[in-house]
Amino acid sequence: MSAEALLALLVVVLLADFGLTWVARWLQLRHQPATPPEELAGVVDAAAYARGRAYAMAKARLGFVEALVTLALWLTLIVTGTLAAVHGALADATGGGWWTTLLFLGGVALAFDLVGLPFAIARTFGIEARFGFNTTTVATFVRDRLTGYALAIVLGGGLLALLLASIDAWGTAFWLPYAALAAVVVVLLATFQTSVLLPLFNKLTPLPDGELRHAIADYVRGAGFRLENTYVMDGSKRSTKAGAFFSGLGRQKKVVLLDTLVERHPPDEVVAVVAHEVGHARLRHLPWLLLGNVASVTLTLFFLSLVVDSAALSRALGADGRVLALNLLAFGLLFTPVTTAIGVLLNALSRRFEVQADAFAARSHSPAAMIATLRRLSHDALADPTAHPLYAWLFLTHPAPVDRIRAIAAGADEPTTPARGAAPV
Ligand SMILES: [Zn+2]
Repeated sequence: MSAEALLALLVVVLLADFGLTWVARWLQLRHQPATPPEELAGVVDAAAYARGRAYAMAKARLGFVEALVTLALWLTLIVTGTLAAVHGALADATGGGWWTTLLFLGGVALAFDLVGLPFAIARTFGIEARFGFNTTTVATFVRDRLTGYALAIVLGGGLLALLLASIDAWGTAFWLPYAALAAVVVVLLATFQTSVLLPLFNKLTPLPDGELRHAIADYVRGAGFRLENTYVMDGSKRSTKAGAFFSGLGRQKKVVLLDTLVERHPPDEVVAVVAHEVGHARLRHLPWLLLGNVASVTLTLFFLSLVVDSAALSRALGADGRVLALNLLAFGLLFTPVTTAIGVLLNALSRRFEVQADAFAARSHSPAAMIATLRRLSHDALADPTAHPLYAWLFLTHPAPVDRIRAIAAGADEPTTPARGAAPV
């Protein structure tokens, strides 16, 4: 393909991705019923429901402006050849090699992050605060941001440096050894996420002795499951929203409950949440999702190997010849449709697993408690009660509350329509 055709394709892909995202989000807003659905009756009244619709609209408005600004920035940088010019100047100053590539890509990432910063501030201290969710202080916000940068430099920079080394060593055959390395990293991150990464942001403490701990221990024993410890995380430091998750592989398996969940739900409902997480563990959902992620990374690396040496791709961004840094960026953009398609598959798998974990909780604990938890979570998070299929395909890892409740009530393992969850549960 010629450089001109590639440039046109880049522009089309950027516009199509923006269009698809916002058609889906607009359909999602319109898809919600005018009054609270019967599955939420008694928990979500008309006033709370109206607040939920206003919350969804406020988030969509801000998200739309942010996406529009980001799109405009990409189009400007690409069409005017600014990326190539900046890379050229940086190569002159730093001597061209790996350092130039690392600094250039890090700089582009930082620039887009800074463009997103005012939107992140408006989201946290504007919308989330206005709807009563935000508990993040300015100090926590700044600390989170800085910790994120440090992690991006160490993990992201390290992986990028290894990618450059692999390309140097193996040429276009780099994708296979690098995919093997990436698989190891994916598994290590999944195994140690809760014990190593999460404590950088949150405090985890073993669930204190008491009624809840005894109820959980009784349930876990009854289900014949081995669970070393259940942890409580200080989610209330950032938001009033409740949730829980399961993480780790092998002996690192942990169920983590947000303190907001423990405080606001009666023990019977918290046990239902633990049962749901135990369901994820017993049904081996995490290894399957990891396998999906590794397959996705491998496929992406293979396609990257096909264009990594392309001079036309670099010229499309305004360079004179092949520039590795520009090819990596352009590939990331061009590959968006495939990334989206892979996301649709992995989301579908994840939604299926959620329904299975709900069914497990209903079977091994109580359908009524699981439904009560979902109703309360949905109310407290002002969640969209239903999901438009296109929105669910593109974005949702959890079916909508109404669909989850219906599936549990019907005793089914499958939801009737794919749809949205509040916080990860
Ligand atoms: Zn779940």
